[in-house]
Amino acid sequence: MTHDTDGFSYRDGELYCEDVRVQDLCEQHGTPLYIYSHDAFVRRFKEIDDAFKGTPLVIAYAMKSNSNLAILRAMARHGAGADIVSGGELFRALKAGVDPKKIVFAGVGKSDDEISDALDAGILLFNVESVAEAHAISRVAQRKGVDAPIALRINPDVDAKTHQYTTTGKKGTKFGVDLDVAIEAYEEMRGLPNLDICAVHAHIGSPVRSIDAYEEALKRLVDLIDNLRALNFDIRLLNFGGGLPILYKDDETAFHPDEYAARVKPLVQRTGCVLILEPGRFISGNSGILCTRVMFRKETDHKTFVIVDGAMNDLIRPALYDGYHRIHPVIEKSDERETVDVVGPVCESGDFLAKGREIMRAEQGEYLAVFSAGAYGFAMASNYNSRPRTPEIMVVGDATHVIRERESYEDLIRGESIPDFLWNDPSK
Ligand SMILES: *Cc1c(COP(=O)(O)O)cnc(C)c1O
Repeated sequence: MTHDTDGFSYRDGELYCEDVRVQDLCEQHGTPLYIYSHDAFVRRFKEIDDAFKGTPLVIAYAMKSNSNLAILRAMARHGAGADIVSGGELFRALKAGVDPKKIVFAGVGKSDDEISDALDAGILLFNVESVAEAHAISRVAQRKGVDAPIALRINPDVDAKTHQYTTTGKKGTKFGVDLDVAIEAYEEMRGLPNLDICAVHAHIGSPVRSIDAYEEALKRLVDLIDNLRALNFDIRLLNFGGGLPILYKDDETAFHPDEYAARVKPLVQRTGCVLILEPGRFISGNSGILCTRVMFRKETDHKTFVIVDGAMNDLIRPALYDGYHRIHPVIEKSDERETVDVVGPVCESGDFLAKGREIMRAEQGEYLAVFSAGAYGFAMASNYNSRPRTPEIMVVGDATHVIRERESYEDLIRGESIPDFLWNDPSK
């Protein structure tokens, strides 16, 4: 799994992020702590970009996977756009200098304010998830006297075979419009003012390990484009979504962008459309780790628990969808392996980072690296149990940058207030 773990490697039993010793970062900044490799982010982006050389392409980085401003800036600096799903993400993308002409806006419930802000910014495309939403966009665009570029999101009805919470391209999900009623929906939207109906969109799930599923979905989209053009729709963009897979475990398979491009390119070229891709996890997933310290070991009759200072509020993927994250000591001290539950301090049985997992034995006070945490890690972090969110560190060669500070207790209560009467004695 060499290309997947680039950016993080063991030298003489010690973990490095690029040229920085991870143990030093843990001691300096405390744990839990997210660490990102700038080089890994850029390299993964370029792998996709290079694979599609010669095809007109916009890579709209799915920023919901990791939306730190410095990460967005690093992506934008190398030519990436952004796939946004909210007004807050639009705000972040613009702050980081993402080119609005490379921003696409997805999500089933865009508000009028969000639509309005996106029109003001002049984004590339709205991914419309229902005809009702097209009505809303049309109304806001008409008020502003501009045309809104839109794609209808299609369910191509292929099974991406991912977790039930992350499969999105089958019938019966809340996303998009079923393929068999797509033409009907496009015809209905044609009657609406101030819409530039210029694209089709699909995002079939995440992560998608079957390259055949991608190809089948794309064939269906290309047929749809042919049919739409025969009806005089001016389709110029093909947004094929994200979902490119990464390796979480050693025994998984993940195809390379070159293999993906080899299947996708010929079909897209036939349409003459500009291709849009929305990769998130592929770029960010293995470019980051969560570091955590062993607080206590608790050995019971049936199990050994390794209690760490990182918890479900820092990384929720194991609790939310059985996400698997490889866990290994930051410094390898022992040859002994043991089967343990790695759990955090949050008061929920769902608070675990790994269950029944064989890992290298780690003693109290040692640091563990939780791998593949760059995507849907910090981005899904919360303050549950009033735990301040972790810092985020970006490593660039032998330099380190704190790109988000650890939150303080004051941060936890920002915006809260106690009404005066609650300080009165209720018995009086
Ligand atoms: C989440 C999402 C993506 C990104 O998925 P990844 O698996 O991170 O690549 C892309 N497009 C849409 C519409 C999404 O909802």
